[in-house]
Order: sequence, then structure tokens, then C-alpha cells
Amino acid sequence: MTSQQVFVIAGGGVGGLTTALALAKAGQPSLLLERASAFREVGAGLQLSPNASRILRALGVLDAVMTRAVVPDHVRLRRGSDGADLTKIPLGDAEKRWGAPYIAVHRADLLAALVEQARREPLIEISNDSTLTGYIQDEKGVAATYRFDGEFRRASGAALIGADGVRSMVRGRLIGGDADKPAYTGHTAWRAVLPAASLPEPFRRSASNLWFGERAHLVHYPLRGGAFVNVVALVEDAWRGESEGADPDFWDNVGDRKFLINRFKTWCKEAQNLIAAGDAWMRWPLFDRPPIDSWSRGRVALLGDAAHPMLPYLAQGAAQAIEDSAALAASVAASPDDPTAALQAYSASRAARARRIQEASRAQGEIYHLSGAKAFARDVVLRLAGPGRLRARQNWIYAA
Ligand SMILES: Cc1cc2nc3c(=O)[nH]c(=O)nc-3n(C[C@H](O)[C@H](O)[C@H](O)COP(=O)(O)OP(=O)(O)OC[C@H]3O[C@@H](n4cnc5c(N)ncnc54)[C@H](O)[C@@H]3O)c2cc1C
Repeated sequence: MTSQQVFVIAGGGVGGLTTALALAKAGQPSLLLERASAFREVGAGLQLSPNASRILRALGVLDAVMTRAVVPDHVRLRRGSDGADLTKIPLGDAEKRWGAPYIAVHRADLLAALVEQARREPLIEISNDSTLTGYIQDEKGVAATYRFDGEFRRASGAALIGADGVRSMVRGRLIGGDADKPAYTGHTAWRAVLPAASLPEPFRRSASNLWFGERAHLVHYPLRGGAFVNVVALVEDAWRGESEGADPDFWDNVGDRKFLINRFKTWCKEAQNLIAAGDAWMRWPLFDRPPIDSWSRGRVALLGDAAHPMLPYLAQGAAQAIEDSAALAASVAASPDDPTAALQAYSASRAARARRIQEASRAQGEIYHLSGAKAFARDVVLRLAGPGRLRARQNWIYAA
């Protein structure tokens, strides 16, 4: 392989790492530039649906992920105000139904499994402490400039993949314009990982739990073999005018616990106790960018949140980044000598589905956050629909 054939990947998150592995499986070398100096123990829990775990299995990484994961038996839907059960949607038989498991895993454990696999792969070179600062492309290849250890370096390759997250620098260059800048959605995720032993037994059950409330919802599920419970409280600013604003998002942005306790004061005691049990809540203001129809320009393409940031209400952001990686590698395998055509085919194969999931995620959030008569109608529909029909509604996402 010459350096011209290397794929330069900017960003070593779930999307970038999975892409490096998928390209390697297709025989393509890559150089992965990650701005962080090391892959740290960051983040909280992620739910990974069968459409993603199936690809991790094909990449040979699922077994390692499963050693630290939990397989929730069902998702339990509840009303926040009084804790009433609305329904339970079975998940434990995902392997049988959708051909791969539905799992809950700590982001750090997923990243560790991906990094370990990538480090064993001779076709992948990982460069930490490497921040992409610019690129140029012509008909022969791409030259990416990055900052490493205080100096600027240049990497040449066949193509550049911008897997650099919702605030993607590559997207800023590729799409540009004020309308495409990341914008605060008015929604903030508060996240805590609690020792399971500190919580009553119902919180430790192997289930994914989703509670609905006015302009807010609550999610919790066990992590790391059940040793911890991941809790996410999603709140909209536009509730009685209470807001903490959109400070910059970063993993260790600690929020004011008192704000959150007050925000959930109208919820049932059980939910309030869960909120109060967290003493270190991390705030994660959610940013968004509009859907775009084409993710590539010549030899440069976007992937993951850089291509299709989405509200986390269908738990699909990382899953879609994983789907992107498989689609990209398949397109490259189909046109190994024509990166421009491969990137175009990749974008064409993915953009419509990602847009649909972006839009469905937003709509889902609106349903979760209803109040008054509309919330009452939602709860009636959920109860009447029954678990089987609700589960079948996930087919278009999970069976892909
Ligand atoms: C509260 C919450 C809950 C979520 N729950 C789920 C869930 O249950 N299931 C699910 O599938 N998804 C979930 N998501 C979404 C998921 O976290 C993201 O969609 C996913 O992390 C996107 O991966 P990515 O690799 O595209 O981007 P990121 O994870 O953002 O990774 C981008 C990487 O690029 C690096 N980078 C940035 N700029 C540069 C640069 N210039 N040069 C080099 N490196 C750079 C960053 O350091 C980072 O490592 C959730 C998100 C939130 C906020």
C-alpha cells in the first residue's frame, strides 16, 4: 500500500474507531488522528441496539464488549408524576428476533474494546494528541494538517473521513455557512453513574427504564455487570423559565445538583430519590445541526455525529455511527481505486436513513415530554398497543 491509499480518519470516538476497524477488514489501511492525548475513562452508559451490535460482532469486537455489558430484559415505561407502569417492551430476545443482542455498556468499555482491537490490527495506525487543523484535496489525494506535540504535521492519504463529532471542524469546512453551525437545542442531559449497591433493588434489575414527564424524561439501566446504574435526566430549558443555559459541553462539566432536584420536585418520590442519590451530576447541553443530503465532497466525507447529530431519544447516535462505518467500508471495497466514487456511494447509501432517524429521535422526545391531555392520550395508546406492537415498531431500526 502506498501512503496515497491510506484513509485519514479525524476523530477517535465510536465512529472513527469502528471505521478504522471496518476499513481494515476490507483490507484498507488508515491513520486515525485523535486530539485527546489518551483514550480516557470518559462518559457514561450507552444502549446499543441490534443494528449496531450485529456490526460489532462482524468486526470481531462484540465478545470483548459483552464481557462488560448488561443485556436488559425489557424496557419499562413509566409515568413520572406517580410512577404508574405504562407498559414493558421485551428486549431480552433481541438475538432471536433481530439477529443480535440489545446491550447496555459503559462508553469507556466500548471504546476500550475498540481501541484494543485496533491496536492489534497492523493496517491501523492511531495517533493521539493529534488535532486536525485543516486539509487540502486534489484529484490525486488529500493532505491533512494536524497539530502534534506543539508542532504541525501533514498526513497524505486517499481520502479524509471527518468523524470529529457534532462540532466537526471537517463539516465546518465541507458544508459551511451560519445555518449549519451547531446550535443549542434547549435540551440538556444530566448524567450520573451510581454504585448499584447504593440503590434499592428495583433500580438494580436488568431492565432499561424510561419515565415520562412534562418537558423532561428519565432513563436508567444497569451497567458493568450490574455493579453500577446509569442515570440520565433529560430536561428542556423551557419549563417554568428555569434554565442553566448552554455552557460548553465536555465530559467533566459538573452541574448543580440542587437545580436538578428542584426540576424533578413534581415527580413521584421514587424518581425524586433516584435524582437525590446522585451527588456528581454531569451536564451535557445537547447541540444539533440540520440534516444534510450529501456527506461527501470529492475525497472528504463525514461520519457519525459529524454527519448526522441527533437527540439521544432513540438511543441511536453511536449505533448510526457504527452503521456508517460498515457502509463506508462496503463502498470502499466496491470501488477500491476510486475513493471519490466510494465516498459518494457511501453517502448515498446512508443519508436518507440517518435523516429519518434524526427526525424520529426529535419526534420521540416530543412524545416523551408531553403534558396534560396529550400525555394522557399517549399513556392510553401505550397501554392499548401492548408490548408486541410496540416492539414491532422498532423493526425498521433494529432489523437493518
Ligand atoms: C446523553 C446522551 C446519551 C446517549 N445515549 C446513546 C445511546 O444510548 N445509544 C447510542 O447509540 N447513542 C447514544 N448517544 C449518542 C452518542 O454518544 C453519539 O452519537 C456518539 O458518541 C457519536 O460518535 P462519534 O464518533 O460520531 O462522535 P464523538 O463520540 O463525539 O467522537 C468524536 C471524536 O473526535 C475527536 N475530535 C474532535 N475534533 C477533532 C479534531 N479536530 N482532530 C482530531 N480529533 C478530533 C474527539 O476528541 C472525539 O474523540 C447519546 C448521547 C448523549 C449526549
